[in-house]
Amino acid sequence: MRHATYDVVIVGAGIVGAACADEFARRGMRVAVVDREMVGGGATAAGMGHIVTMDDSEAQFALTRYSQQLWQKLRPELPADVEYDQCGTIWVAADEEEMVEVRRKRDFYGQREVPTEVLDSQTLMRLEPSLRAGLAGGLLVMEDAVLYPPCAARLLMERAQKQGATLRLGHSVVEAGQGRVRMADGFEISAKVVVNAAGACAGTLTPGVEIKKRKGHLIITDRYARFLRHQLVELGYLKSAHSVSSDSVAFNVQPRRTGQILIGSSRQYGAEHAEVDSKILARMLQRAREYMPGVEQMSVVRTWTGFRAATPDKLPLIGPWPGDDSLFLATGHEGLGITTSLSTARILVDQITGAKPEIPIEPYLPSRAAQEHAHV
Ligand SMILES: Cc1cc2nc3c(=O)[nH]c(=O)nc-3n(C[C@H](O)[C@H](O)[C@H](O)COP(=O)(O)OP(=O)(O)OC[C@H]3O[C@@H](n4cnc5c(N)ncnc54)[C@H](O)[C@@H]3O)c2cc1C
Repeated sequence: MRHATYDVVIVGAGIVGAACADEFARRGMRVAVVDREMVGGGATAAGMGHIVTMDDSEAQFALTRYSQQLWQKLRPELPADVEYDQCGTIWVAADEEEMVEVRRKRDFYGQREVPTEVLDSQTLMRLEPSLRAGLAGGLLVMEDAVLYPPCAARLLMERAQKQGATLRLGHSVVEAGQGRVRMADGFEISAKVVVNAAGACAGTLTPGVEIKKRKGHLIITDRYARFLRHQLVELGYLKSAHSVSSDSVAFNVQPRRTGQILIGSSRQYGAEHAEVDSKILARMLQRAREYMPGVEQMSVVRTWTGFRAATPDKLPLIGPWPGDDSLFLATGHEGLGITTSLSTARILVDQITGAKPEIPIEPYLPSRAAQEHAHV
């Protein structure tokens, strides 16, 4: 058979496509998911798995916080290999200037009922003794968590499949829209709803979607039990995440259940190839050593890269694509797609089924990108 019909066809079996499949299936729709590779490959396999509430904008806060709460609800169902651990984030302040930012963040979160604690220098050292002496303090955000993204994506896809979803791996999609998805081998799926969840490649399937690839490197070390207890991020991270032109690195480390340390992170535009760049790795390790001198002695087990899907206004694209009644986007999550996969799926399926979303959806609607495109 060269043709099949479903209610929904999703392109992409990364964590966003998997979360959408689970949500559509849960609401009784017949779903097919197509990926040219595997479940939880793409950026999902490359990501750090930090489930983090962010405060760059109200829209970013709403989507990350809502999703974090959905992860908390899902927690009892997460198998051990998802390695969900509510270890908390400490935003590390190097000096008094950064402590001003700590207090600003504390106020922002406090006004929105996110529990935090301002740490002075001694308390920071007590909580994370491997940090260098002389840091000013930090902000502990207790409800932030970490998980292992490929297994989280697999779990979501398995849940969808148990509810009847069909998965077609090893099929490259060449056209998506106008009520159908066509694959390179000629196979077609028709559906009232077509979801482009192709991550950093979403723009190739939907012309006019402005997604830039933003390359990132990660490093994982051998096992060093009790070296690190929280996700630690330097406050300078925000400056590097906001930089839109230059390559940047920032101190961002994560404790894994295994005792391994995941060391991040870098951001590069215009780097199209997936090779590991040893100069970027050297800068990341240097930055990590500046905060945690013990990193110097660690053995590195593996390094890799991945591509974040970045939009011009740093918010994801979730909802209908203007000009095609069948086509919906769920992409553009940059460095937050593991965190926001669950909220993305909820608000997308709410829009399609006519349910009332729990957060305002307007900031994420793709119509804003289409308008910008039309003006250009
Ligand atoms: C270094 C790094 C660190 C990160 N750290 C974090 C973090 O700590 N926390 C966080 O929340 N997020 C983090 N992220 C971001 C996160 O990984 C991504 O936002 C998320 O994985 C995006 O998921 P996705 O499903 O949209 O895309 P992907 O995982 O990229 O999935 C897209 C899928 O679409 C498929 N596909 C594409 N085109 C086609 C086609 N034509 N036909 C068929 N299939 C197709 C691909 O094969 C792929 O499987 C990080 C990212 C990187 C790179």
